[in-house]
Amino acid sequence: MDELRRRYLAQQIELGGAEVVFSGAAGLRGSGATGEPPAPEPTAPLPRSPAALPRWLSGAPPIPGPGIAITSPDPVLLGSDIALLPTIEAVAERIRSTHCCGLCPHRTNAVPGEGDPRARLVLVGEGPGATEDATGRPFVGQAGKLLEGILEAIEVPRDSVYITNIVKCRPPQNRKPLPDEIAACIPYLHRQLELIRPKVILAMGGTAGEALLGVRKGLGELRGKVHTYNGTPLIVTYHPAALLRNPNWKKPTWDDVRIARQLLDR
Ligand code: URA
Repeated sequence: MDELRRRYLAQQIELGGAEVVFSGAAGLRGSGATGEPPAPEPTAPLPRSPAALPRWLSGAPPIPGPGIAITSPDPVLLGSDIALLPTIEAVAERIRSTHCCGLCPHRTNAVPGEGDPRARLVLVGEGPGATEDATGRPFVGQAGKLLEGILEAIEVPRDSVYITNIVKCRPPQNRKPLPDEIAACIPYLHRQLELIRPKVILAMGGTAGEALLGVRKGLGELRGKVHTYNGTPLIVTYHPAALLRNPNWKKPTWDDVRIARQLLDR
């Protein structure tokens, strides 16, 4: 390096030259009369550096292609006035005060759901477990703790989302809800989604994915696509409780959740 170039670089450092972006290898390969490289020219700043991107986005998969597009059943076919309940709280109050299937008489508390009634993201699980039944709140047990960690990792506060389930009363021994129990309870979910009108829905587990999309396809087929529910993007992923049983599913879940997160920003 000749004296001229050394002085130029020293000056750049004094001037806060770290801000200056040089044009890479070409800028260092000069054709000056001396055979030495000319002082590099400052160029336009590069696009936002990766360091400025949110951490959750690093290595996130691209948004996948479309899957199933469904519309919720016509409210008239719901066969009750659930479709007329005017607010999220009115829906919750109806759930707490009535019985709609064989699960209801055995509950300690119904678990209608909780969160921001104007949430941009709605999370749907399968049905309350023991802690949820005891408290009347969704996802407050072990699976709930894991879910909170996932939300934190994508920089979405728990109180900014709405969390609910396909069935609002605990199935005995945490078994999967039966088709008739789902059919009896799901009108509440349809109404909740109609009132909230979220930007993205995340169905957690095969039961939630199948019930919302009205199909019997299994998680393997439902993951990795952007389905739509009344035009709202819907992503299906593993249930947090499944991750507690099988940590190998954490990585694919992390990918699914980051797809949902990107859709929120779209
Ligand atoms: N599992 C669910 O599906 N929902 C809850 O609320 C808690 C655990």
